[in-house]
Amino acid sequence: MTQFIDLGLAKPLLKALADEGYQTPTPIQAQAIPGVLAGRDLLGIAQTGTGKTAAFALPILHRLAADRRQPPRRSARVLVLSPTRELATQIGESFRTYGRHLGVTVAVVFGGVKYGAQMRALAPGIDVLVATPGRLLDHLQEKTINLDGIETFVLDEADQMLDMGFIQPIRRIVKHLPRNRQNLFFSATMPGEIEALTGEILNPNPLKVSVAPQATTVEKVNQRVLFVEQVRKRALLAELFDDGSFTRVIVFTRTKRGADRVARGLEQAGVEAAAIHGDKSQGQRERALAAFKAGEVRALVATDIAARGIDIEAVSHVVQFELPNVPEAYVHRIGRTARAGADGSAVAFCADDERSLLKDIEKVTRQRIPSFDRRNDRHLGAATAVLPDTGKTERSAQPHRTSHKPRPNRNHAPAKPGHRHDGGPPRLDEARPQRSGFKGPRRGGRSNARPGVWSNR
Ligand code: AMP
Repeated sequence: MTQFIDLGLAKPLLKALADEGYQTPTPIQAQAIPGVLAGRDLLGIAQTGTGKTAAFALPILHRLAADRRQPPRRSARVLVLSPTRELATQIGESFRTYGRHLGVTVAVVFGGVKYGAQMRALAPGIDVLVATPGRLLDHLQEKTINLDGIETFVLDEADQMLDMGFIQPIRRIVKHLPRNRQNLFFSATMPGEIEALTGEILNPNPLKVSVAPQATTVEKVNQRVLFVEQVRKRALLAELFDDGSFTRVIVFTRTKRGADRVARGLEQAGVEAAAIHGDKSQGQRERALAAFKAGEVRALVATDIAARGIDIEAVSHVVQFELPNVPEAYVHRIGRTARAGADGSAVAFCADDERSLLKDIEKVTRQRIPSFDRRNDRHLGAATAVLPDTGKTERSAQPHRTSHKPRPNRNHAPAKPGHRHDGGPPRLDEARPQRSGFKGPRRGGRSNARPGVWSNR
């Protein structure tokens, strides 16, 4: 079997891998690293959990170290685009971990936070810049960052970029890149629009690596579906937590409000829970994740977008409080457990009006999920009757799949700055950067606190 030492990586990288206890490359690493080291473009069909971050970070770091030079001012030598701030942060941490004996500089830039610290981190030039698309475009428009120095461009989770409405922003970003560059393109799935994008971004004849087809992850997860009335889901969820093996559980809801309500319901049932979604501030999201990782809360209640790509070890169970509208999301959700070779368990609640969603999921994953009928269950009925109020009850999870058009991403729709399309209050998340808050470079002044950016300079 291939070992890291066989892949031709520089000694400081091998040392960092040994520090991490990694001996054997994962399949995507074994297949991708030699080609990327040789300067080839890469098309990687892989989802998180396959080791794809190291598959691009290791050869990139090797090439940076083999050809040391000062990155141009306000620019970087490597650009990694990531759909969410959590994933961007994780990728930045991976570069820092693997590159710790090389002295490369890394900065992470995302929306929902102030611009000043990000500009200062980039001012002298940086080796690796990890960014979310909306905020990077803002910097490009304000000319506080340029991409003239980019030698390697990585697009991660391209299919999620599509789901989040980031395809046009990516095209705009690509226009700022030098023509002569190496491109590494990753996507878990290859819908038509993503395939078209590969043709626009990649040089001809990229190395193609496809690993862990979705079925592999699906097979490793012990799954079951519980049929239950929508109004009794809360009581059923509390009942699941009576089982002591539910130690570290991610609960998925379809909506942000739903996530808050479910987390409140769990707290009321005596289960420590935290919610994470796009309306939470960066600080709240980071605290919730840290508490979950530290085992201080047993349940992390999340929406799909907030949770995708998050790498948390030893998740014992994934619970789907509602089934997702697209079957692929089911696979991504259960993939949060069974990470890095471990087995995991997934429980999905299915109300009567979600049956067609379940059918779609079984079709796409080519499996029949064992199901148990908890409808008309007297115990759940009695438990539901005495539940305290958590606010508005859940809306029906009626499928919208065929009629549903993806909503345009607010980041790039012509809404007035600070105003939401739906008339709600302005929000601070990646999908809605506060353009009006752009204050230009801040000179002097205090502040070592650098929200929205860290760099190891
Ligand atoms: P990723 O798909 O990049 O999110 O990686 C999934 C997880 O696997 C992360 O926690 C990595 O730290 C871990 N990992 C990556 N490469 C290896 C390896 N060769 N051996 C063991 N674990 C790894």
